[in-house]
Amino acid sequence: MKSPSIIIIGAGIGGITAAAHLARRGLHVTVVEKNTHPGGRCDSFTRAGHRFDTGPTLFVMPLLYEAEYAALGVSGEAMHEMLGLQRVDPTYHLIFDDGSGLELTSDMKVMRDQLESIEQGSFNGFLRYMQEGQHHYNVSMERLVNRGFRTASEFFSLGNLPLLYQIKPLKKHYSNMRAYFKQPRLKTAFTFQDVYMGLSPFEASATFSMMPYTEIAHGVWYPRGGMYAVVDALMSIARKAGAEFLFSTTVERIEVGHSQARAVVLEDGRRLEADSILANADLPYVYKELLPDDGRAQQLTRKQFSCSVISFFWGVDKRYEKLSPHMLFLADDYRENFKSIMDDLTIPENPSLYVHAPARLDPSMAPRNEDTLTAIVPVGHMSDNGEQDGSALRDQARQSVFRRLATLGITDLEEHIKFEVCYTPQSWQKHYNLMKGSTHGLSHNLFQLGYFRPHNRHPVYHNLYFVGASTHPGTGMPTAMVSARLAARRIMDDLGIKE
Ligand SMILES: Cc1cc2nc3c(=O)[nH]c(=O)nc-3n(C[C@H](O)[C@H](O)[C@H](O)COP(=O)(O)OP(=O)(O)OC[C@H]3O[C@@H](n4cnc5c(N)ncnc54)[C@H](O)[C@@H]3O)c2cc1C
Repeated sequence: MKSPSIIIIGAGIGGITAAAHLARRGLHVTVVEKNTHPGGRCDSFTRAGHRFDTGPTLFVMPLLYEAEYAALGVSGEAMHEMLGLQRVDPTYHLIFDDGSGLELTSDMKVMRDQLESIEQGSFNGFLRYMQEGQHHYNVSMERLVNRGFRTASEFFSLGNLPLLYQIKPLKKHYSNMRAYFKQPRLKTAFTFQDVYMGLSPFEASATFSMMPYTEIAHGVWYPRGGMYAVVDALMSIARKAGAEFLFSTTVERIEVGHSQARAVVLEDGRRLEADSILANADLPYVYKELLPDDGRAQQLTRKQFSCSVISFFWGVDKRYEKLSPHMLFLADDYRENFKSIMDDLTIPENPSLYVHAPARLDPSMAPRNEDTLTAIVPVGHMSDNGEQDGSALRDQARQSVFRRLATLGITDLEEHIKFEVCYTPQSWQKHYNLMKGSTHGLSHNLFQLGYFRPHNRHPVYHNLYFVGASTHPGTGMPTAMVSARLAARRIMDDLGIKE
């Protein structure tokens, strides 16, 4: 009997992982990717011996990666070996406005000394906060992240009711910090991770304390050669399983019938038919650009989107040993920062920002005696009326980075930059078709999570599926892998293929 065929639109983490699952189950899988290479947002480039990860730089939630690799037949041990993972500890160096710092580390003695010097009694608050984070992590993984919600009753069940107090979804993350710390800087130090979901801690639910917990308890890791190693590893699993990849091939539209998707039509006019279609391209973009207009795209556009970022990639002719791998410059006017980004869709006057120096972890990321630096400044996503002045925002972001580095005594960076590549919200949109240039897709507020998040199967076309950041469970590399496993499971169930 002929094996069922599937076309996957997009070779992001979700698309490649789904390709691997489905090919391993005997489906005929073709992945169609508009770019010249796989990875989507987990992208990289090399110039003059400088290697840059342009998207993710943090390998977090290692237990989730281990489980997802295991589901692809690769043990946790083999995964660590395959990716050449090293633990990054201290995970972050935080720098506040007055130049004082805090290193986040799993060394509890170092944490105690630092925290107590900032606020007496705060180490005890920290330990209690970690306990809450652990609880939120365990419950969320089991009850929310690792489950697909195909029907409303699976989500709104009596069994799920205790989640309302167990993981504090209705409480705001920042205000929840009152129970643990008095010092605003400590509240900042353990909530900034919400930006990874494209959220403000003043809007995010307290459930997200699971992020600082997993970073300290399970670690932040770094693959040999950078994050793109994850893409290479997944590609090798998918190809070995028999999945085929077509690069530099853009899908122009999905051809649909009454209740079925029939084919994808490519930009060059070719038409590829398959039994099923799985879209990994950003879900709101797929509804708006690839499917016939039935009103759903407009509904999605009105939903809340996560913020964007302006990223600078600098090849530098000098090594800045002062810079550690992951540095966060956190602004005291934290609340105002998020207001500017989320409400005004702009850049704060004194933005919190992130600087990454990968050569501290892997010297091969930069030529000898030189440095490879990335700076990321969160910014509002593109507005619908296109009023933002992109080049003004870019210049403002660049100057903010230089100003922040000067607080560390680094005042000569501009003179040592050999080349600069900059990604703005417009670049994110252009490179990966991300609606509004939003780097994390649909936001992760309470009413856009779980059953409320767009489902992994189209409500009308029953052989059209979705995978990736804007569907369940949400943004992040390991979560894209979870999304792929859940989508693949649904496809196989619909095709009657047993586990
Ligand atoms: C700046 C930044 C920093 C991040 N940092 C982290 C981090 O540190 N850790 C972490 O875990 N996560 C991080 N993330 C999030 C993570 O990168 C994403 O959540 C994840 O990679 C999304 O994968 P995805 O499966 O949704 O696919 P995507 O990455 O969205 O890939 C979709 C693919 O579809 C392709 N495509 C789109 N339209 C078409 C079309 N018409 N035809 C053919 N192909 C098409 C695109 O080119 C793309 O390759 C970061 C993201 C960004 C942008």
